[in-house]
Amino acid sequence: MDAVVDTPAARKAGFETNKLSKRLHRLVGQAIADFNMIEAGDKVMVCVSGGKDSHVLLDILLEMQRRAPIDFSLVAVNLDQKQPGFPEDVLPAYLAGRGVPFHIETRDTYSVVKRLVPEGKTMCSLCSRLRRGILYRVASELGATKIALGHHRDDMLQTFFLNMFFGARLKGMPPKLVSDDGRHLVIRPLAYVAEDDLAAWAAHRRFPIIPCTLCGSQENLQRQQIAALLRDWQQRFPGRVENMAAALGNVVPSHLQDRRLHPFATLKTTGVADPNGDHAFDGDDDPCAPPEPTTGSASTDPLVARPLRWMDPP
Ligand code: SF4
Repeated sequence: MDAVVDTPAARKAGFETNKLSKRLHRLVGQAIADFNMIEAGDKVMVCVSGGKDSHVLLDILLEMQRRAPIDFSLVAVNLDQKQPGFPEDVLPAYLAGRGVPFHIETRDTYSVVKRLVPEGKTMCSLCSRLRRGILYRVASELGATKIALGHHRDDMLQTFFLNMFFGARLKGMPPKLVSDDGRHLVIRPLAYVAEDDLAAWAAHRRFPIIPCTLCGSQENLQRQQIAALLRDWQQRFPGRVENMAAALGNVVPSHLQDRRLHPFATLKTTGVADPNGDHAFDGDDDPCAPPEPTTGSASTDPLVARPLRWMDPP
């Protein structure tokens, strides 16, 4: 057991860790409440890759489960893809040690991907597709009602900019959505959490991290570029990333150009003043104007109506 050291530096570190813990639990609780991610009786399948993000996700959900106002169950699932050097004993030992119900699914997708993808091409697209299909099937077999993934705020922003820069569309990574096979509800409880906070918590908790480079595939170069861009912005203009993340939940369709979202062709005057109407000759909108209220807090859902219970720090 580590000896307890009581120095000003140790006290400061303890204070910062306590703040980080409270922030993580508050943000995860807020995301769960805002999007009604977990309901009474849910069986949540937590996908644990062994990386820092999914470790933190499981850790926080276990704590939430202890203090949540409703009953729900968790089952951790890891897919062993038979990548060379994958330490197959690490996760079972860790999960058993924490007393979490878990399932390890073993499927050699690594060989399939190696065989089908030409040398030098990125393997991630096929690998992800195979993994997705397997995890959907496992979710059905386990009777899971939700599939929880460890994507965080910065993943979501990167996806948003990737889609805009390279796909010419405004599309992010949703906190909650029906799976592409139409049969599962996928949730991302870390939607509001910054990656730096996840890394700090993972280091503090000393999770047995499994490196994500075992397959030898290059990480998506465009995603790396966007991540570097966002890091640079955040360093030069602190607070911008937080604003961009908040903007994903504060969309004004009438001020964009998607004719499927706003009936531009059939617009008529209403005769009623509307602060969201066009400011005509004023040029840019005032970016400091208060945002329109969001709908989450008006929900009558009992879970959403009691979001603070989810956000109580441990
Ligand atoms: S990095 Fe490797 S394991 Fe991850 S999606 Fe790409 S090919 Fe699959």
